[in-house]
Formats: sequence, structure tokens, C-alpha cells
Amino acid sequence: MDRLTGKTAVVTGSSRSIGRGIAERLAADGALVGVHYSNSPREAAEVVDTIVAAGGRAFAFGAELGTDGDTDRFWTEFDGHRAKFDDGDDTGLDIIVNNVAVALRDEFEVATRSDFDRMFAVNVRAPFFIIQQGLDRIRDGGRVINISSVVTRLALTEVIAYGTTKGAVDTFTLILAKVLAARNITVNSVAPGYIDTDSNADWLRFDAEAWRETAAKSAFGRVGTARDIADVVSFLASDDSRWVTGQVIDASGGTRL
Ligand code: NAP
Repeated sequence: MDRLTGKTAVVTGSSRSIGRGIAERLAADGALVGVHYSNSPREAAEVVDTIVAAGGRAFAFGAELGTDGDTDRFWTEFDGHRAKFDDGDDTGLDIIVNNVAVALRDEFEVATRSDFDRMFAVNVRAPFFIIQQGLDRIRDGGRVINISSVVTRLALTEVIAYGTTKGAVDTFTLILAKVLAARNITVNSVAPGYIDTDSNADWLRFDAEAWRETAAKSAFGRVGTARDIADVVSFLASDDSRWVTGQVIDASGGTRL
């Protein structure tokens, strides 16, 4: 498990859930991993401890996204913590996983501008400018991996604005792939289906009937795990995926095939 040895990765929102799974997997592959968080410094430190205990390298840094000046703070914090792992003059970065998103449930008729603006600020604007401001840090041959969602093909009316942000993420992936191809940087989206995480614990994890119904939506008859997504991200982060760019990789366990 050393296919990312010598590489540096950052995973936004990796203090918990899918992001945590991705951070742990990329570290197990050998990458130095920046574990980004917003409100959970303790959980982020725990992720770093878990990675280090397994023989990996990681550091935690915090920056709330979706606010004014968010991406400036993100890179300032990243640079400060990354510098402590300075291997010579090399403080660059190879892999960025844009994982943070907020999913507010809104039917179209009652959707509010404040929820809409919040979701676009966190889910679309933040990754867009994280990459723009990170361009001089990302090495040639690098990887951008955006976490999208299966909702872009399910027409779920209760998450119309959230679904629209994920459509924007996929379009960003498509166009950015063309922009960065000259530098051999690939850009892809991964679209999870229903995953057991903190964000849907209230309606899924603790409700046996909802769990059964959700599991039945996958062709495999189960709810997904963070590891199901992390393994796909690991492939896209590796050299094995060098000929794949501008794509949305469905990782939904065959949801509603
Ligand atoms: P989650 O359980 O809510 O975890 C969110 C992570 O993002 C946490 O580490 C959190 O950090 C961080 N975060 C949240 N808001 C932030 C903000 N404004 N600024 C900075 N960090 C913030 O999320 P998840 O369910 O794992 O989802 C991860 C990704 O997968 C999202 O893009 C989501 O759309 C996508 N997805 C999830 C599912 C699913 O079933 N769960 C399905 C399809 C797609 P703190 O704890 O420090 O606040």
C-alpha cells in the first residue's frame, strides 16, 4: 500500500463520515494527508491520531467554508500546517478532494434564498475558489476529486437546491478537466449513493424501516459505507487513473438501476 508515497493530499471535511474514510484511505496509500475541519477539531485530531497509529502521516487544520474570506483562510491554515512537514523546499500538493457539502432539505415551493445561497456558497463556490487559489500549489500530474451525489440523476424533489449544487459541481469537473489537462492534472467527480454518515443519521441510522427502504434502493441491497467511496477516490488519486478525466464516477451501489 504505497502507491501514494511521496504525495500530499488534502481532504475537505475529513473530521467525520465520508471525508474521514477518504483521508484514512489516502494515508494508508502512503500520502501525507491534510485533515480539514470546521467545527470538530477534536474529531479531526482523532483522525490524525488514527492515521499516525497506523504508520501514516497527517495533520489537521480548520477553516469554515461558505463564508467571506473562507478560501484565503483555508490556504493560509493549510500552508502553515503543511510547512511543518516540509521535505526540503517541497511544500506542494498533489491531490485535492473537495468533500464538504451541506444538504438542506427544501421542496421547491418552500425553498428559501438563504438556504439556497448557503448551499451554493459551501458546495460550489468554495471548491471553485479553493482550486483557483490552489493552482500554484498543485503539482503537475496532480488530482482534483470532487464529491458529487447520485441525486443528480434521481430527481428527488425534497432536495431540489442541493441537487442543483451537485449538478454545478459536475459541470465544474467537466470544464476544469479541460483547463488543467495541459498540466496532466485530472479532474473527476465521485457520486455516492446513500451512505451511512452523520449527515443522515437522524433519518437513517436510527430508523430500522428507513434503513431497510434505503438499502433496497441499491442493486446490492445494502446501505453504502464511507469505505465504499474512499476506495473509488483512492483509485482516482492514483496513477492507475491517469487516462480518466472530466468524468462523474457513480459510486451508488447501483442505486435505482
Ligand atoms: P457529513 O457527515 O455532514 O460530514 C461533513 C464534513 O464536512 C465534516 O467533516 C464537517 O466538518 C465538514 N463541514 C461541513 N460543513 C462545513 C463548512 N461549512 N466548512 C467546512 N467544513 C464543513 O457529510 P457526509 O455525509 O460525509 O458527506 C460528504 C460528501 O458526500 C458531501 O459532498 C455530500 O454531498 C456527499 N454525499 C453524501 C451522501 C450520504 O449519503 N451521506 C450521499 C451522496 C453524496 P466539522 O465536523 O468540523 O464541522
